[in-house]
Amino acid sequence: MSTTPTIGVLALQGDVREHLTALADAGARALPVRRPEELAGVDGLVIPGGESTTMSKLAVAFGMLEPLRAFVRAGRPVYGTCAGMIMVADKLLDAREDQETLGGIDMIVRRNAFGRQNESFEAAVEVAGIDGGPVEGVFIRAPWVESVGASVDVLATYGGHTVAVRQDNVLATSFHPELTGDHRIHAFFVDMVRAGA
Ligand code: GLN
Repeated sequence: MSTTPTIGVLALQGDVREHLTALADAGARALPVRRPEELAGVDGLVIPGGESTTMSKLAVAFGMLEPLRAFVRAGRPVYGTCAGMIMVADKLLDAREDQETLGGIDMIVRRNAFGRQNESFEAAVEVAGIDGGPVEGVFIRAPWVESVGASVDVLATYGGHTVAVRQDNVLATSFHPELTGDHRIHAFFVDMVRAGA
């Protein structure tokens, strides 16, 4: 299939530009999204890494929290990396009581899970559905998935912890594939968006 889907990158905070480049490289038309009108014009959305507490506060301040929740509920494809994984979790550990998420994946995500000594590292990660060998996972104060519900597919683990998952049209990774120049995971997401469009 050679259709060019339009995919937004949530541009409230985080590493937006790298995702725009990766998505364009993977065959999508990629645009930053900050406002409800912009969200309405995209077929799928990437939520970047950054700081999930700040991102959720800005989503409230920009009037984006409910439109984003509605986007997920409507079954539009969403891919969250790192802080973005936190945003699509139904429940959090090690977060402030009042930290809002969009939900979308029936999972409990632990923020900053890999601990201080291991704050940032790279590791080869085998991801189900991604052909051609492991991807280089860049983990930066990364979360992991503590537990998942029955309808969640675990796509990758590292050190015994779940680091990539999918439930229906929502995909999430603990690590940052946009920082490596290897855009296979973005291509996988672009295909999810094509299938859902
Ligand atoms: N630790 C950050 C958070 O809790 C996530 C870090 C990242 O996105 N690289 O939001």
